[in-house]
Amino acid sequence: MNDSKPPLNRINAVIFLGLPLAALLLVPLWGIYYGYDAFQWLWALAFLYLNGLSITGGYHRLWAHRAYRASPALKWFFAFWGAGALQNSILTWASDHRRHHRHVDDNELDPYSAGRGLWFSHIGWMLREHDSYEPDFSNARDLQNVPIVMWQDKHYVALTTFMNLGLPLLLGVWHGDIIGTLLLVGLLRLVVNHHVTFFINSLAHYWGTRPYTESNSARDNGFLAFLTYGEGYHNYHHIFQTDYRNGIRWWQWDPTKWMISACSRVGLASDLKRVPDFKIQRAILDTQFERARSKMEEAQSSETLRASLEREYQLFTESVNQWTALQGERYERKKSELSEALGERKGQLGDALTQRRQRLQQQWEHAALRTKLKELEYSLKMQRKRLGLLVQQAQLQALPA
Ligand SMILES: [Zn+2]
Ligand SMILES: [Zn+2]
Repeated sequence: MNDSKPPLNRINAVIFLGLPLAALLLVPLWGIYYGYDAFQWLWALAFLYLNGLSITGGYHRLWAHRAYRASPALKWFFAFWGAGALQNSILTWASDHRRHHRHVDDNELDPYSAGRGLWFSHIGWMLREHDSYEPDFSNARDLQNVPIVMWQDKHYVALTTFMNLGLPLLLGVWHGDIIGTLLLVGLLRLVVNHHVTFFINSLAHYWGTRPYTESNSARDNGFLAFLTYGEGYHNYHHIFQTDYRNGIRWWQWDPTKWMISACSRVGLASDLKRVPDFKIQRAILDTQFERARSKMEEAQSSETLRASLEREYQLFTESVNQWTALQGERYERKKSELSEALGERKGQLGDALTQRRQRLQQQWEHAALRTKLKELEYSLKMQRKRLGLLVQQAQLQALPA
């Protein structure tokens, strides 16, 4: 890498270094002399979540990954509150983020590559005019056709000024303490939201586990998920980026997922994409096989143990192939049913009794297929258990007798 540093981006330096310094100094000072009240704290928290969820649910999962569809009302909401997070327009943000996914950990092409260090991936990438920071919207042509996205991009400065200064100012006037409200709801909320969102690019690529893939640096981390509106399950997200969920278990903290799912229930969101369970299990097992192999190699496990592992792997491959074939079958069946239904509508098919027979036959076929798919899912779960036992045996063998 080049030793001479690229020039400073002055506006970003003020935003990302000046504002936190101002917050560190002014917020406690005002607190000591005049204090804050519950009204101000609650509004700061509300703004924090409105900004945060608009970035994670709007900028990230809706626009960067198209993990679901949103109604115009929801899109406008995200466009305003997302602008209030002061993290650039939807277009720039989503384009950068798509590059991050495509070239993850590539120090030249990933705009916030974790390989360049914690500071760089946190905010360093925005402070200087790095080559990788140059905007390139060739990966966001779809977004350039979305009127709301282009409108927000055009009026971004006015919007973010209104959301960060205008709204807190109005709140302050209403409340009768302009400076205190500006400091808490305007400044502190903004700085906190910046850093918790940036943790996803920095800490979530360093700290945590990698259950789904070890092919990149992204980690799953429940604690970070709590701070990042659910985006801390970053290892899952990097392998299945079109899933509207990041925390896939019910007990995992993912308020962004809950918000999207609530919106879909009241008609504000639709087409929520979920990765099939089998694929998730497959990714976990694949990673565990890799790990088991290297562990056995390290521990110089016996031939029998290694042969058992390879046998398990064979079974695994067979299950995967069967599943893929069944999915193909399901797709073909859906297609033929659709054309049959069309034919029916045209009156080409027989009487009511024949139609009923056909429908029952179809229902039975669906149920049979579903059962087979469920069985395959279950077989992978059981295989994970057996794999665990094999690894334990390898560890035991490695101990001195
Ligand atoms: Zn990432
Ligand atoms: Zn993403």
